[in-house]
Amino acid sequence: MVNRGRSNPDVLVVGGGPAGAIAAEVSASGGADTLLIDKKSDLGSSSACGGLVSLETWNRLGGKEEAVLNEISGVVVHTPTGSHFELSAPGTKALVIDRDRLNVDLLSGAKNEGVVVQPSTEIYSREGPKVKIKSVEGSGMETLEPCIIIGADGPQSDVRRLFDLDSPSKLLYAIQAEKKYEPRSSDFVEVFFGKDIAPGFFAWIIPVSEEKARIGLATPQGDKLKKCFSRLLDKTSQKTPDKFHTGVIPLGVPDHSCDEAVLTVGDAAGQVKPTTGGGLYPISITSKLAGRVAVKALAGLENPSQYYYDEWMSEVGDELRRELLLHKVLERVSDRKLAKLLQLLKNPKISRWVGENGDIDHLYPLAKRMAKNPSILATILRALPGEIGSKLMDELR
Ligand SMILES: Cc1cc2nc3c(=O)[nH]c(=O)nc-3n(C[C@H](O)[C@H](O)[C@H](O)COP(=O)(O)OP(=O)(O)OC[C@H]3O[C@@H](n4cnc5c(N)ncnc54)[C@H](O)[C@@H]3O)c2cc1C
Repeated sequence: MVNRGRSNPDVLVVGGGPAGAIAAEVSASGGADTLLIDKKSDLGSSSACGGLVSLETWNRLGGKEEAVLNEISGVVVHTPTGSHFELSAPGTKALVIDRDRLNVDLLSGAKNEGVVVQPSTEIYSREGPKVKIKSVEGSGMETLEPCIIIGADGPQSDVRRLFDLDSPSKLLYAIQAEKKYEPRSSDFVEVFFGKDIAPGFFAWIIPVSEEKARIGLATPQGDKLKKCFSRLLDKTSQKTPDKFHTGVIPLGVPDHSCDEAVLTVGDAAGQVKPTTGGGLYPISITSKLAGRVAVKALAGLENPSQYYYDEWMSEVGDELRRELLLHKVLERVSDRKLAKLLQLLKNPKISRWVGENGDIDHLYPLAKRMAKNPSILATILRALPGEIGSKLMDELR
């Protein structure tokens, strides 16, 4: 492929998180002259992320062994009414990773493929196919006319705004601290449900080691975030930490998330699991696709954005859309009904199936499986009358 020169890279990737780093690496390895910019000066600096991933996702991300901090084999579910139960199976089901280290490793992989990485630089404005990028530290401004732009600039994407693309339909507000904490078991994640702690979603304790954990929660009700966090800390007998991170989690795949030569990926495109808030699983698939489509576009593929959209929707997007319905259940049901629904997971057949097949990337098949059992189905229908119940049943049948 012809090098079009610094001011006209073939591909401009905006954002150096995991989505941008992987898309840039794939684009450059396909021969495209690729420039990646990020407004941060330190691209390995602390990210608000629980860093919990399935083994499958970790393998696809191509993370290094040194970035794995802990192995998880089960979960303690705390219901809104105060009871709790465990689900587990022999063997590792998920990994806790050093998310900052992952970023550094992915960017170094991208650089090795020839990607030019320019920190402290943001996308600033757009005029037709041209964009202006500028240094966030000084006054330097540059006009670029790349063939393809990959918007990997996170949940509040500027690429999305500049190209009039749709936003994900919903935001969750999240808060998390990494703290000294002795988990009840260092290979069990704990999740907490209930309107007092995490209305509309859940809270978590992710053990990083035997004496440290990531403690956090997410909720659509941003005004309640700090209050809920202190309740969670009270519940776990923790003092409010001096240092914590807040962030947003975008949910709901928008219809119009790409433009002629603009592909959005990762949080910028709402590529997040509505049931868990996990973005790394979709990114492990879609970021590679975005990089490959950029290369195909340079080789003459017509309408690359439609091609990319159709492909990512069929590989993972349709599943995310269906899961949004499961997410809505969390938001709409009362604490008492949610406690009943969660108790269904204790059914011996279901808990065995969860142990053998369930993984954090694929909760929809679990819901389908549960709906096959007549007594479980009856309980679900009793807990979810009305429109949401019948929509869910139509989907699960
Ligand atoms: C509290 C919390 C816990 C989470 N826990 C998990 C978990 O356990 N497992 C999981 O899979 N997912 C988790 N997630 C979600 C996951 O962290 C995200 O889905 C993932 O980080 C998104 O990656 P990304 O590359 O799309 O965006 P980001 O990692 O947000 O990267 C976007 C980059 O774009 C840059 N940028 C933004 N605007 C501009 C601009 N105008 N110009 C240039 N650069 C720009 C930013 O500086 C940033 O570096 C969690 C999220 C939160 C908030």
